[in-house]
Amino acid sequence: MSRSSGPATNGFDGKVVIEVRCNEYTMRDHNRHVPWSPDEIAADAAACREAGASVVHFHARDPETGAMRGDTETYAAVIRAIRSQSDVLVNPTLGASTIPDPLQRVAHIPELAKDPATRPELAPVDLGSFNVDPFDWDTLQFRAEEIVYRTSVAGLRHEIDAITAAGVGVQSVLWTVGSARCLGAFLAMGVLPSPAFAEVTLSDVMLSTHPGTVRGMQALVEFLPPGVHWSVSCFGGNLLGLVTAAVEAGGHVSIGLGDYPYRELGEPTNAEVVAEVVRMVRAMGREPATPDEVRAVLGVGA
Ligand code: ZN
Repeated sequence: MSRSSGPATNGFDGKVVIEVRCNEYTMRDHNRHVPWSPDEIAADAAACREAGASVVHFHARDPETGAMRGDTETYAAVIRAIRSQSDVLVNPTLGASTIPDPLQRVAHIPELAKDPATRPELAPVDLGSFNVDPFDWDTLQFRAEEIVYRTSVAGLRHEIDAITAAGVGVQSVLWTVGSARCLGAFLAMGVLPSPAFAEVTLSDVMLSTHPGTVRGMQALVEFLPPGVHWSVSCFGGNLLGLVTAAVEAGGHVSIGLGDYPYRELGEPTNAEVVAEVVRMVRAMGREPATPDEVRAVLGVGA
């Protein structure tokens, strides 16, 4: 049997990077365990680390209302709280379409990086421009017909340059085959360093992405530049059905309550979702990667 997609070629000796996407801008109406405050995110991250996660992606939120917070102080408070309890890599959002100007969108990353105590290991950049329209298949309505998440090539380069100049690694977020081709161009230009770390973003409700199915994932992965480390996520859909196929294809897993409430598991915490992924990974004879292993392979957090 071919081992072409097996342990020797995923770059992590076959170990699987599990990133927890703990909160996004998700409210608590479908699962009350979505963490908002710095202390909640930190406790959640520590429990996820205990369960097998090595990276935590978070959005800064108002502790009381869950509203979006974009101030550097809140991001810093979250990172300090996480690091007081755990050695996971931190990967704070840029704010995506909520901050239209790419210069403003990335501004907190160099600020956070001035202090090694709050310097993130990673920051995500969405490679492209997209209509951001969650579609409700029950009511047959788009929720946000006017919202465009727009970033020019110059804007992308500004974000990437600001992140890398701050000593932070870039997570290239891929929504389409076009994003994968843009990643290839940026690698060829030397805009992005190798090895690249990418996230294949699928969605059942965000129609600018590929669908959250094995075929949707494979259609994008087929166009990844060679040598890219990649994980898969699914916004608004259950990713558990793709874990085995992703790992088998040499990929990693980005999952959490920010994307989907996972009521199939009851009303789980993020750590319980991570534990389910670890159970599946171990059933394949694989182990989750540790944070230090991720730092070493990606060359971040030095
Ligand atoms: Zn996010």
